[in-house]
Amino acid sequence: MFGKATDPVCGMKISKKDAAATSEYGGKTVYFCNRACKEEFDKDPERYIQRAKG
Ligand SMILES: [Zn+2]
Repeated sequence: MFGKATDPVCGMKISKKDAAATSEYGGKTVYFCNRACKEEFDKDPERYIQRAKG
């Protein structure tokens, strides 16, 4: 099942199936609208993880 996720870096709502990049953190998958957002997240995941939904 695919649902919606929030890119925690830029706050954009995206479909999980359309995510340009994903990252695993703290046992959950985080979805990003593009690779630049993933790179930002990977630099400082603790800053963004609370904003990740779904
Ligand atoms: Zn983004």
